[in-house]
Amino acid sequence: MKPSPIVPTVDFEQDGVQHGFLRLPWSRDESAWGNLMIPIAVIRNGRGPTALLTGANHGDEYEGPIALVDLARTVTRNDVRGRVIIVPFMNYPAFRAARRVSPIDGGNLNRLFPGRPDGTVSEKIADFFQRTLLPMADFVLDLHSGGRTLDFLPFAACHALEDKAQEARAIAARDAFSAPYAMTMLEIDAGGMYDTAAEALGKVFVTTEIGGGGTSTGRTVAIARRGVRNFLIHAGILDGVAEHHASIELDMPSADCFTFSESEGLLEPAVDLGAPVREGDVIARIHPIDRLGAEPRDYRAKLGGILVARHFPGLVGIGDSVAVVAVAS
Ligand code: ZN
Repeated sequence: MKPSPIVPTVDFEQDGVQHGFLRLPWSRDESAWGNLMIPIAVIRNGRGPTALLTGANHGDEYEGPIALVDLARTVTRNDVRGRVIIVPFMNYPAFRAARRVSPIDGGNLNRLFPGRPDGTVSEKIADFFQRTLLPMADFVLDLHSGGRTLDFLPFAACHALEDKAQEARAIAARDAFSAPYAMTMLEIDAGGMYDTAAEALGKVFVTTEIGGGGTSTGRTVAIARRGVRNFLIHAGILDGVAEHHASIELDMPSADCFTFSESEGLLEPAVDLGAPVREGDVIARIHPIDRLGAEPRDYRAKLGGILVARHFPGLVGIGDSVAVVAVAS
């Protein structure tokens, strides 16, 4: 396969703190021989494990970027044993545009793995993570939130894996993160995800969903900050004492967790995040907005549990994710 066109301005083998860029050649109207400059920090202190920390894999999710710009600014060489690689704005064009997907090519970075060195800008970013950054890492943390259209109970998550030893390492790292909730996550479609790529390479992979709605709050940012530190301490990379809090464990046992809209209109949430639901309970109601006097459509929980995610905007379209129910485990 062709080499990646991305050139890092940092040396991954050099000790110390480096703030630089992943320079991706991007020729366009505004800049003929121009580049996309994706910020990256590398903090290394001798031999030891490597953690790869990312935010804004989706560009409208903010807790990860805030926690990671802080970490990149404040962590010193002496705080670290081994190496931390920080990319707070993974899909940088999407982040700059405050969008989930890239405005350059429409790329949803978390559906494009393993990427292509000779593909679109988004595919080139995916390929660089796939073939250059992921192989360097032992521990991988990818911080997500709900973005503009979803809101979540704050949780750290890993997936059920065929390799049970790898799964146990991921669960231990997830629980070390100490989010209020700890999820064993079921994906709607795991194909093309960064998660799947990292797990297939045998990495200890943890993801999160911390809040949403295209913004952040003091509470959710604090969860991300604490979690990032705890994760690095757990990895044996960062010095210090972890601030451990027990998480409530949740599971997504089947596709019945998801509720998708089969109508469009005005969303009335019937249950709030964190609230218990029983099978058959109405969790949301969608009112038609093209006429008056028509009945709303009720959406009912297909299993009992607690509400962990909901559609955030007040209007909903057909096919949208309305709500997610998870089960205490
Ligand atoms: Zn996301």
